[in-house]
Formats: sequence, structure tokens, C-alpha cells
Amino acid sequence: MSERTLPVPDAPDNPSPQTVSFGFEDVSPAEKTARVRGVFRSVADSYDLMNDLMSAGVHRVWKANMIARLNPQPGQALIDCAGGTGDISRAFLAAAAKVQARRGGPPATAIVSDINEAMLGAGRRKGGEGLTWVVGDAQQLPFPDRSADVVTISFGIRNVTDIPRALKDMRRVLRPGGKFACLEFSRPTSGALAAAYDSFSFNVIPRLGRAVAGDADSYRYLVESIRRFPDQRRFAGMLSEAGFGRVSVTNYSGGIAALHVGWAV
Ligand code: SAM
Repeated sequence: MSERTLPVPDAPDNPSPQTVSFGFEDVSPAEKTARVRGVFRSVADSYDLMNDLMSAGVHRVWKANMIARLNPQPGQALIDCAGGTGDISRAFLAAAAKVQARRGGPPATAIVSDINEAMLGAGRRKGGEGLTWVVGDAQQLPFPDRSADVVTISFGIRNVTDIPRALKDMRRVLRPGGKFACLEFSRPTSGALAAAYDSFSFNVIPRLGRAVAGDADSYRYLVESIRRFPDQRRFAGMLSEAGFGRVSVTNYSGGIAALHVGWAV
């Protein structure tokens, strides 16, 4: 896995658009919200299995790297936005508990917040001691200002209708000095990797979606939405626009995924 962390400059303003992308289509914000809801309602029960199949388990390595970067500590409060079935929150609490076992201190807490009850339901069925499950829109989080030490969003931001608004709200709930981390698909840094990745994504993933989840369209949306999402540099600029400081980017697997980190300074 390639990892390189780079400081990034600010991006220009990103005004709220009249239309937003739903995969390769441009649709109204209301339509995107409704269709994304439909996608995750449809795939909720096979979501975890599909992640393993599509990435040959590599999403677990990316998520483990994200948790290592967060360096969870006893007593910290995490809000994981668009948290789905709870992978990030579970791993965060497990890492904080290891530190707590060595050094003591209060337990860390984690809230899995997601707009989709079906995804949270699938996560709850998997279990996870100490997790709190909350239905919440990342654009308008149901949490007080400055209530989290760490805010995360993993493979979620691409699906949000108004991304600048969600980034600002995630910044709002972070306490001063707190850390924000966003894991998302991004742009491969080499042309050869991009070509192989495109061929796999457009040919294999929708077929896998049909075979395993009985839904090729949702997985076609997944592939298309990745192509429409801003690249590493542009997205880093959006974080700066939303008020995060010291923004940095780390590419995973040659830029197939990227971790953006910012601070509430
Ligand atoms: N974070 C999990 C992970 O890494 O496996 C789940 C990611 S899943 C690809 C995307 C999630 O984003 C879905 O659970 C979906 O319901 C959620 N989502 C989409 N729009 C949202 C919004 N506006 N607010 C909160 N969650 C949203």
C-alpha cells in the first residue's frame, strides 16, 4: 500500500449548486437524497459482504490505517457520520480500549450516525458493545456544537447531497483542537492503475452487485459516483473552505482511496 501525506492549499469557493450528481446523472438535490436513500436501503443487508468482495478485503486495511492515524485515546468522544454498519466506530473503541488497558482512564465513546435506518439496523445486528446508534443527516447533525473530540466519515461524503454543508456541520460538532478524518474513494495517481481500475469497476462491480445483492444499479451508482467526486486536491480545498485547519491528504493503494485529515484549530 502506498502512503504519502502532503499538505494542501485552499480551494476556491464552492457555491451550492442547483443540480447535484447522482452517479453520471445531474439531478435535483431532493432527487439525489431520495435515490441515495433507496440505494442504501436496497444494499444494507449485503453491504459488508459486498465491501469484502469488491475490494478483496482491502477496505479493511484502509480503515485500519485510518484508525491508526486517529490514534484513539481513552475518554475520547467519536461521532462517525454516515457510519453505516459501524466499522469505524467499532475499530475506534477497540483501539482506545487497548490503550485504556495499559494506561487506564475512562472509556472512549462512539456514536454511529447515519441517515438510513436500514444501514444502522444491519450494523446493530452485527453487534458492538458501547456503540450508540443515531439516525442523523450529516448536513444537519443532531448533536451539540463542540461535542466530539473526533469526527469521521468513511465512504460517506460522496453520497451526501450538499457536501460543503455537511463539512461545515461536521466542523461545528468538533471541539477546538479536535480531529476530523474522511476516508473516501479518490483518483489513482498513475494512468496504468486508473485504466485497470476503470475496467474492473465498470465491468465487474455491477455484475457482482447483481449476483450478491440482487442490485446492479446501486453498484453502478457506486462506481459512477466515485468518478464524479472531487479529486484529492479539490476535496482538500473544500475542507479548508469548511473551516478545517492543517488539512493533509494520504493516498491509499495508489490513490484509489484517500484519507483527508483536518483539525478544528
Ligand atoms: N461508513 C460506512 C463504511 O465505511 O463502511 C458506510 C459507508 S456507505 C458507502 C455510505 C453511507 O452514507 C450509507 O450508510 C448512507 O446511508 C450514508 N449517507 C448518505 N447520505 C447521508 C447523509 N446525508 N447523512 C448521513 N448519512 C448519509
